[in-house]
Amino acid sequence: MEISKLYEIFRKCTSITTDSRDCPAGSMFFALKGASFNGNAFAEKALDKGSAYAVIDEKEYALEGNDRIILVDNCLETMQQLANYHRRKIGTKIIGITGTNGKTTTKELITAVLSEKYNVLCTQGNLNNHIGVPKTLLRLTPEHDIAVVEMGANHPGEIKTLVNIVEPDYGIITNVGKAHLEGFGSFEGVIKTKGELYDYLRTNHGTVFIDGGNEHLVNISEGLTLVKYGTGNEDSLYIRGEVVSCAPLLKFKWKKTDGNWHETQTNLIGSYNICNMLAAACVGLFFGVTEQQVEHALENYKPENNRSQLDITPYNKLIVDTYNANPTSMAAALANFRDMEVSPKMAILGDMRELGAASSEEHHKVTDFLKTAGIDNVWLVGEEFGRTECNFRKFRNVEEVKEEIAIHRPEGYYILIKGSNGTKLFQLPELL
Ligand code: ATP
Ligand code: MG
Repeated sequence: MEISKLYEIFRKCTSITTDSRDCPAGSMFFALKGASFNGNAFAEKALDKGSAYAVIDEKEYALEGNDRIILVDNCLETMQQLANYHRRKIGTKIIGITGTNGKTTTKELITAVLSEKYNVLCTQGNLNNHIGVPKTLLRLTPEHDIAVVEMGANHPGEIKTLVNIVEPDYGIITNVGKAHLEGFGSFEGVIKTKGELYDYLRTNHGTVFIDGGNEHLVNISEGLTLVKYGTGNEDSLYIRGEVVSCAPLLKFKWKKTDGNWHETQTNLIGSYNICNMLAAACVGLFFGVTEQQVEHALENYKPENNRSQLDITPYNKLIVDTYNANPTSMAAALANFRDMEVSPKMAILGDMRELGAASSEEHHKVTDFLKTAGIDNVWLVGEEFGRTECNFRKFRNVEEVKEEIAIHRPEGYYILIKGSNGTKLFQLPELL
């Protein structure tokens, strides 16, 4: 079926879904395939549950005489094409975000700032891949003034695919660092892939918001229209900022070119978050949000997603960063923790996964750093940390940590908890 025809049908639907357990009345179900499931087999169920139409790509699941089942060549590609078609029809300005660390945090902060003035659509949670991105676009309505779309990648070429679906008018690469090295092959591979966002904006005359102090990004930004933010002193910065304190929440000051300084108390842990904050302020001011509104939005943003979050329990003060870890974000979190003037300190760190051949070296770098970081108590969780040469306490998995906490709960500490999502350290905060 031609996309324009499918689009006419989509416009009569209330929403789209790819989950046969969640089929709102009037929705359009797309039968996607995963490693262990075939959505085609659930098309009929989706219609029974409330979907108005089911899009499938295997003939044998088409029911004769049922025009609510639509057969296409490839459901995923069709959903992506439909998303792009819809995005063009609606025409809302879109800001695309990628980068190694801080995409979701920056997306949330930009949304908070822009929402002071506009009706903003943004990526829900972390739905930033080849399925989540089209789903986000298909939620666009004419009422939206602007959209903020997160795009993630683990392999070369993935950002190119996503930008061609999103066709952003503006873009941000938050930073480039070491993550998913297994998929990217090398750090250069990371830069090239994230740079696919810049490549698109260069060809299509878009605008880039850029951390002017990030050499890797500046090096690949030639020929682009840039709006710069940063913590340096360059004249070309549209907005600059400085960390005031991290005690333990980040307080920073910032000012627009020729403007006055503002001091903003955030609810985020970590000096590294200043870049995310400045990116959001930069985008907001660029789109005409007032300085007071920017300040209001940044001060009131509270993470609830296990990223840079401070949780105070009756026993400890927890720095919950259990959402994920890679060498760059681990280094940023540990340097920040080392510099925090609090005591006593404890770190519970889980393996950083998906690092391929670099894994052993990257885990050793962490334990070497820890040897002089002045952290009073260190627990390491997982096989990779298990192989490092150090005298820190080691646990094979989160279950062993939970058993230890049940016997001797650490108390009175500031505790940094960070590891790859797969290490499941997110189970620990409620026990500490
Ligand atoms: P994902 O690739 O999983 O979508 P993300 O890029 O969306 O991740 P966030 O979820 O915002 O990133 O943050 C994940 C973690 O990265 C944070 O908890 C924090 O430890 C770290 N982080 C966030 N911003 C930065 C930054 N600017 N520099 C270094 N580390 C950061
Ligand atoms: Mg994210």
